[in-house]
Amino acid sequence: MSYTIYNTDKRSKFQVSKGNGNGFALGRKKAVSAVNDREPLPGNVDYRLPITDIYGSNVFNRQTMRTLLPKNVYKAVLRCLDHGEQLDPNMADTVANAMKDWAISRGATHFTHWFVPLHGYTAEKHDSFLSTFGEDGAVLEFSGKNLVQGEPDASSFPSGGIRSTFEARGYTGWDPSSPAFIMDSVNGKTLCIPSVFCSFSGHALDVKTPLLRSLEAINKSAVRLLNTIGKKDVKRVACTVGPEQEYFLIDEAFYLARPDIINAGRALFGARPPKGQEMEDHYWGSIRERVLAFMMDAEHELYRLGVPVKTRHNEVAPAQFEVAPFFENSNLATDHNMLLMEVFKKTAQKHGFRCLFHEKPFSGINGSGKHNNWSMADDQGNNLLEPGEDAQNNTTFLVVLSAVIRSLDKYSKLLRASIATAGNDHRLGANEAPPAIMSIYLGDALTKVIDNLISGKAGDAKKAGELMKSGVSMLPEILKDDSDRNRTSPFAFTGNKFEFRAVGSSQSVAMPNTVLNTMVAESMDFLSDEIEKESRKSGDLQGAISLVTIKALSDHKRVLFNGDNYSKEWHEEASRRGLSNLRNLPEALPALIETESKELFERYGVFKEDELVSRYHILLENYCKVINIESLLTSSMATTMILPAAIEYQTRLATAIVQTKSAISGVTLTHQEKMLNDVSEKINNLTAAIENLAVLHLEQRVDEHEDEASAEAKFYQTRVIPAMNEVRNAADELELIVDDSLWPLPKFREMLYIY
Ligand code: ADP
Ligand code: MG
Repeated sequence: MSYTIYNTDKRSKFQVSKGNGNGFALGRKKAVSAVNDREPLPGNVDYRLPITDIYGSNVFNRQTMRTLLPKNVYKAVLRCLDHGEQLDPNMADTVANAMKDWAISRGATHFTHWFVPLHGYTAEKHDSFLSTFGEDGAVLEFSGKNLVQGEPDASSFPSGGIRSTFEARGYTGWDPSSPAFIMDSVNGKTLCIPSVFCSFSGHALDVKTPLLRSLEAINKSAVRLLNTIGKKDVKRVACTVGPEQEYFLIDEAFYLARPDIINAGRALFGARPPKGQEMEDHYWGSIRERVLAFMMDAEHELYRLGVPVKTRHNEVAPAQFEVAPFFENSNLATDHNMLLMEVFKKTAQKHGFRCLFHEKPFSGINGSGKHNNWSMADDQGNNLLEPGEDAQNNTTFLVVLSAVIRSLDKYSKLLRASIATAGNDHRLGANEAPPAIMSIYLGDALTKVIDNLISGKAGDAKKAGELMKSGVSMLPEILKDDSDRNRTSPFAFTGNKFEFRAVGSSQSVAMPNTVLNTMVAESMDFLSDEIEKESRKSGDLQGAISLVTIKALSDHKRVLFNGDNYSKEWHEEASRRGLSNLRNLPEALPALIETESKELFERYGVFKEDELVSRYHILLENYCKVINIESLLTSSMATTMILPAAIEYQTRLATAIVQTKSAISGVTLTHQEKMLNDVSEKINNLTAAIENLAVLHLEQRVDEHEDEASAEAKFYQTRVIPAMNEVRNAADELELIVDDSLWPLPKFREMLYIY
C-alpha cells in the first residue's frame, strides 16, 4: 500500500510505501531526496512590469476612489479618513456601489467582512454579490448596508464570557480607515472589507476596536500636550508603526513528517544539531534561489494589496528570515501585518515550503519576534520622536520622550502582559532575549542629554555628525549614527522611533499597540496637567515645561538601561531597581486586570472592565489549550513514533549480541553490551517520563483558593511543561544513539539546512 504525503506545485507526487517495517523512517529519507529535487518556482510575478504599475492594484484606495466617486462623496470619505468624521449613511450606498463595480470589473464574485476576533487570527465569511435570480437572469447587488454592517452571527468565536450563546449576536462593521482589497485565489477573487467585530451590547469582540479607541485616546492627549507646550497649530496626532516580521521556512516534505510542527507549530522533539547558528553564517547571507523565488512571489502579491514591504534578509538562525515593511499609520500597519502573514503562509505552500510564525519552533537556536517600530506624527508632518540636530534644546522631543519613559516605568507590567502568549514564553522567559524585564535603551548620546538635564549641567550633547574612520583613504566618508544599536533591549530608541522587540512573531500587533498608546496617552495627560499647574503658579511656561520634564525623567530613570539585557548582572540590577521580571504568562497576565489597569483603560474608553476581564480569560484559556495540545502530542509521538524506533534498535542490538555469542564461544562484546545497556536505560527514562506526563493528564488541577482559570494555567506552567520537557530530553538523548535509519522524525540538521 502506498499513500501520497507530498504534492508539490511541480505536480510531482512523492510516494511513501508503508508495510516494510519502518515506513516513517523511510519517509524521512524520501523527504530529503524530494527536497533535493526541488527547483525555484516562477510564481505569479511579472518582474518586467514596474512596481509602480502593480502597487495597490488590488486595493480600493484613495486613488481609485478619486476616479470612481462623485466629488462630494470623495470629499466626505477624505474627511472621514483624515479627521475621523463619520460618513453619512446615504454616501455609504454610493461608496458601496462604486466598490462593487470596481471589484466585479476585476473579477471578484464575492465579498466578505475581514476581521480579527479574539482568537487572534483573521476571520472571513464570504457572500456572493448575487442577490436575485429573476426572469432577466441574475442580479448582482452590494448596498451601503452590506458594506457598513455584516450579518449578525459568528457565535462560535471566543468572547470570554461577554456574550452568552443564547444572545450570541456579533456584528462586523466596516472600518473605512483601512481600505478594502481584493484577495486573489486560484479560481476566483473576493472583495475583503476590513472590519471591527462587536457584540449586540457594543462590546468589542475583536482586536481592532480597542486599537482604534486607543488611537483616538492618544490623538487627544498628544494634541493637548503639544498645544499646552505652545504648538497651537497641531490638530491631530497619529501613531506610526512598522512591524518587522521574523519567520522560518521549512520544506513541506519535512513538515508533513512532523506531527508536532503540523499541530503545534513547533518541534516538540529534536536534539540540538551539531551545527546550530554558532558559525553566524546565515545572518544576511546570500538568499538561496528557491527562497528568493518565494519571497519575490509573496512580495508581489503584497504590492498588489498595497502592503509596503521593503526589506528582506536571512536572519540569525538557520532557515530563519525577516521581512520589514515601510511604516504606516498604526491601524493600517496592523491590518497589513495580518495580511502579510496570510500571504506568506499561502505563498510558501505554493513553493513547497511551510512558513512558521511560531515564537520558538526549534529549541536551541534563536526564536522569532516581531519588532514593533513605533512613533507618533502630527498633522504638520513632524515625527514627535525626532530629536533633530539639537536634542537638548528640542522641547517637543524631550517632553514626548519623558512621557514615553514615564509610561514605560509606570505600566511596564501591563506592557509585558500585552505580549504574553504560550509561544512567547519561550523567548521572554529565561531561555532567550529580549528578557521579560521591560526597560528602555536610549543610547549614549541621548542618555547624556538626559543626565545633563537631570543634573542641571548645560553640557554639549549636540549631534556630533562625526565621521567614521575606515582607515582606507579612497573610501567615501561615512557619517556615524549618534548612538550604536543595542539588540538586547526590549524597548530601544532607534533614532526617531522606539522599537518594541518583545512582541511575539505570531501575534497581532494590535494589543501591544493598544496598551502602548493608552499608557503613553495617560502620561501625556499627566505632563499636561503638571505643566498647566506649574505655569499657572509661576507664570513661566518654558520654566514649567522644563521643571515637569526633568522631574518626570528623574522619577522614572530607573527604567533606562543601555547595557546587555541578557546578562545575569542586569537581572540582579533590575531587581535592585524594583523592576518586575515576569517570566511567563501565568505570572504576567494578572497585570491586565489589576485595578490600576482597569482604571486606565476605563478612563480612556479603550476597554470597559468586562472587556478587559474577558480578554484575560481568553488568554489564560488559550495558554492552557496550547500546552494541553502540546502535551498530548508529546505523549502520542513519544509512544507511537519514538519508543518503537528505540525498541527496534534495542532488539537489533540484543539479537546481534546473542547471535554473535552463539557463533563465537567466549567472545567478549563489552562495547555492544554497553550500547545495549545505554539504550535500555534511556528507553526506561523515556517510558518513565511518558508515564509521568500521563498521570498529569488525569490530575485534579484546580486549587480551591484561586480562580479556576489561573490555577489551571499555573498547573500547566509548573507541572505539565516540566513533565513535557522530561519526555523531550529522554527522547532527544535517544535520537543521538539510535540507528539513524530507524529514526522516524526529520532531524534539525535536515529541516534547517536542506531546502
Ligand atoms: P532599523 O535599522 O533601525 O531597524 P529601519 O529604517 O530599517 O531601522 O526601520 C525598521 C522599521 O522601522 C521599518 O519597518 C520602518 O518602516 C520602521 N520605521 C521607521 N521610521 C518609523 C517611524 N517614524 N514610526 C514607525 N516606524 C518606523
Ligand atoms: Mg530594526
